Amino acid sequence: MSVSASEQFASDNYSGVCPQAWNAMAEANRMDEPAYGEDRWTQRAADGLRALFDTDCDVYFVFNGTAANSLALAAIGQSFHSVICHELAHIETDECGGPEYASNGAKLLLGQGPNGKLTPESIEHLVTKRTDIHYPKPKAVSLTQATEVGTLYTPEELKAIRDVADRHRLSIHMDGARFANAVAALDVHPAEITWKAGVDVLCFSGTKNGLAMGEAVVFFNHDLAEDFEWRCKQAGQLASKMRFISAPWCGLLEQDVWLENARHANACAARLEAGLRDLPNVTIRYPRQANGVFVDLPETVQSALRDRGWRFYNFIGGCARLMCSWSTTEAQVDRFLADVRALLLE
Ligand SMILES: *Cc1c(COP(=O)(O)O)cnc(C)c1O
Repeated sequence: MSVSASEQFASDNYSGVCPQAWNAMAEANRMDEPAYGEDRWTQRAADGLRALFDTDCDVYFVFNGTAANSLALAAIGQSFHSVICHELAHIETDECGGPEYASNGAKLLLGQGPNGKLTPESIEHLVTKRTDIHYPKPKAVSLTQATEVGTLYTPEELKAIRDVADRHRLSIHMDGARFANAVAALDVHPAEITWKAGVDVLCFSGTKNGLAMGEAVVFFNHDLAEDFEWRCKQAGQLASKMRFISAPWCGLLEQDVWLENARHANACAARLEAGLRDLPNVTIRYPRQANGVFVDLPETVQSALRDRGWRFYNFIGGCARLMCSWSTTEAQVDRFLADVRALLLE
């Protein structure tokens, strides 16, 4: 049987580059421009993000999410500090110790909460259980929006976390690998779930939204951004031909392509969920709120799906994870559902 790589719900980063980003890249290739982010595209993209968030934030572009998170967290604290995150957080499970490395040893403290979301109580517990000199001093909370299991923090939940953070003088970092999907699903202004909810720094992913690469590190708290460009340069994250990261970002920002891409991915996931929900021996594991469906399927069905060429992961959230992207099609969702139905009824 031929295995097509496009028959996949493995990840939103299996997708290609969306046409608007691709065209902007071609446009940026038409003439020479200054290097290291001194070009007009980078200015435009940063201004575009300031307009999007409706505030005067500091914006930096790096190659990938691990670097964005690691460098942003390193900017928040010192090596003797700690960062509170959910036990399923990407910074804990999938960044190979990047945040600890970039900060020269700051420790991650793992909190809990249902559906992949850190609760205010869990944060409070981690901050207050020890305050002595032998315990790394909590300095930040890191939240993933949408979470690793595809759920969302509401503006109210973010404010409750901000209250705890204020009581203990903690900064808030947001891993926005799927920030666009969160904005689309919550139907809020991007400001509502960032600076208006007390987020100090956001790592906003372009990659999973439709770029080849490139994440924006957006500081709402200017103090934290001090000397950040040197941190990026030292870490090998300052692109010399920066315009090939920033021009595609312009392609996403103009006409709200980023939001359309996210809405499309979310709608595909909703269709997938609707088709799976009522099937026998199928359980939706986490509430489907953004562009991922987490589902328990019988082992035999999973391996038969793989034999039919479908790719998806199991290692995140403990069940089959089905991710949709800007390039997922309804027809692809329907082919998958038809295969699942056929296998379950065999
Ligand atoms: C994809 C992802 C990242 C970024 O991963 P990179 O491979 O380093 O770009 C960060 N956080 C979450 C939750 C992700 O899903």
